[in-house]
Amino acid sequence: MDCIFCKIISGDIPAYKVYEDEHTLAFLDITQGTRGHTLLIPKKHVKNIYALDDDTASNIFKAVPKVAQALKKAFTPIGLNIINNNDKPHQSVFHFHIHLIPRYENDGMVLKTINHQDDYKKQDFLEIQAAIKQAL
Ligand code: 5GP
Ligand code: ZN
Repeated sequence: MDCIFCKIISGDIPAYKVYEDEHTLAFLDITQGTRGHTLLIPKKHVKNIYALDDDTASNIFKAVPKVAQALKKAFTPIGLNIINNNDKPHQSVFHFHIHLIPRYENDGMVLKTINHQDDYKKQDFLEIQAAIKQAL
C-alpha cells in the first residue's frame, strides 16, 4: 500500500520514533510545528476517524495521555494541543493520526476556535442538537 505512515511502521522509511506498543506508534512530525510535535498512529491502516473500529479507537486514544505526559515531562510546555484532521481542509496523510503539539510562549502556532455564539439563537441550538441526536 502506498501509505507513508505504513512505510514508517514497517521501517521502509525512517522516522524518529518515540513510543511504540503492540497497536500504536508515535514519532516526531517532520515539520516540528513546535518543538516536540509528535504524531500518534495506529499500526492498522485506517483512513481517518470515520473508519476507526472500536478496538483501534480504544488502543490509539488510550496511548494519547501517555505521550502527552512524556511531552510535558520532556519539555515543560505551557500547554498542549491535540489535533486530528479528517478529510478537507487539512488531512494530507490518509492514515489516521493524532497530532500532539506542545505549546510555548510566543511559539507562533495559530490554533484557535471562532466564537459565533451571537449568531445562534435557542432554536438554532435545538435544531443542531436534534440533527446530531438523530444521526447517532
Ligand atoms: P495532516 O495534515 O494529515 O493532519 O498531517 C500530516 C502530518 O504528517 C503533517 O504534519 C506532516 O508534517 C507529517 N508528515 C508527512 N510526511 C511525513 C514523513 O515522511 N515523516 C514524518 N515524520 N512526518 C510526515
Ligand atoms: Zn497506512
